[in-house]
Amino acid sequence: QTHFLFHSLQAKMSRPVQARRLEGRDKNIWVEFVNLAATYSKVNLGQGFPDFPAPDFLTEAFARALGGGNHMLHQYTRAFGHPPLVKVLAQFYKKLLGRDLDPMTNVMVTVGAYQALFCCFQALVDEGDEVIIIEPFFDCYEPMVKMAGGTPVFVPLRPNPPKDGKLMSSADWQLDPAELASKFSERTKAIVLNSPNNPLGKVFSRGELGLIAELCVKHDVLCISDEVYEWLIYDGKQHIRIASLQGMWDRTVSIGSAGKTFSVTGWKVGWAVGPDRLLQHLRTVHQNSVYHCATIAQEAVAQGFQREFMLYGKPESYFVQLPKELQQKRDWLVQSLDGVGMKPIIPEGTYFLVADISQFKSDVPDVPNSDEPYDSRFAKWMVKNKGLAAIPLSTFYSEAHKNSYTNFIRFCFAKEEATLKAANDILQKWKQEKTSS
Ligand code: PMP
Repeated sequence: QTHFLFHSLQAKMSRPVQARRLEGRDKNIWVEFVNLAATYSKVNLGQGFPDFPAPDFLTEAFARALGGGNHMLHQYTRAFGHPPLVKVLAQFYKKLLGRDLDPMTNVMVTVGAYQALFCCFQALVDEGDEVIIIEPFFDCYEPMVKMAGGTPVFVPLRPNPPKDGKLMSSADWQLDPAELASKFSERTKAIVLNSPNNPLGKVFSRGELGLIAELCVKHDVLCISDEVYEWLIYDGKQHIRIASLQGMWDRTVSIGSAGKTFSVTGWKVGWAVGPDRLLQHLRTVHQNSVYHCATIAQEAVAQGFQREFMLYGKPESYFVQLPKELQQKRDWLVQSLDGVGMKPIIPEGTYFLVADISQFKSDVPDVPNSDEPYDSRFAKWMVKNKGLAAIPLSTFYSEAHKNSYTNFIRFCFAKEEATLKAANDILQKWKQEKTSS
């Protein structure tokens, strides 16, 4: 009797416990690199978050929401977005997109942009659908497409180094129009666009967006437009919203993040803006998964947007000040890296910068027959031996293309001046050691 019981128990235990949709999704480089940075880094320019304080007006709004007279802010709010927040977002994006928006049906608040992305893939991508992803890409797109049963189809931005010996810019990484067009077929359900792009900092031009839009309309394809860095644009460049181009509103979900917009990544407030015909399905996913994010955080973000609405385009606006400060930080890091020969690719937007490590190759011991890309070994060696944390660029490529881009690492420059100085000191010392050895 016991024998029989034991066997049936064992049989049950040997069945895989995890759902098939998780197969191959269990590895995540962020866990590894965040741990390495926590253990070894003296200066962490790896993961993307500011180490400077959030603006006072926003933390004050949070404190008021927390301790002010309205105790109902500690309770549930509307599932698809706290009413004051969806209202001000509808007002704000009306200005940006040039069309009237209904706060109740054209805007949905999510747990960070991350959950807005997850809702898009779950709601819009079916078993067998293809989703075009432009490389290099924010790494969660691929597993999210696969978890929805879709197949990612990759198309690379190709670097065209300037001939005059000048530093490369993120604008020098471009899509090949014919190659892009060749990825669209009757199986294509959506394309993921991320402008400004993490990790390169590329801000897609009107021409590039027009080409993508034309293909979306021609093939009846949806666009998931991740615009979390929409305010972080430099050198007077302009962020163009693909939803505002001809024929695109009806097929685009635009995604934003308070984390990036107001330097509060830990609050995890994000949103999706789009036509009801798409958002109604995102609401179904949201309703049946997380329901909503913290009411107090939504209330404070609403107040932040109300302030920004009044100050729109004025010098006091945070959306004017933040990019100005970040551009200065970008320029410091560009100088530091260029000074030691770790050639930076100057980003037009975001708070990331990709640098070429080819000249530092000899510092890091080669591991013959390793299938780990060189940039990944380099980044691990650098944090362990120099105390400087960055993220290998190959992380932002599909498995098939990882080994074609292994000479670059990504730095985050949304950091205090002191942090960037400390990074500069490490790089200078490293260079001196190289030249004296
Ligand atoms: N999209 C991109 C391109 C990002 O870089 C990030 C954050 N690193 C997100 C989405 C996620 O944003 P959030 O923190 O609001 O979830």
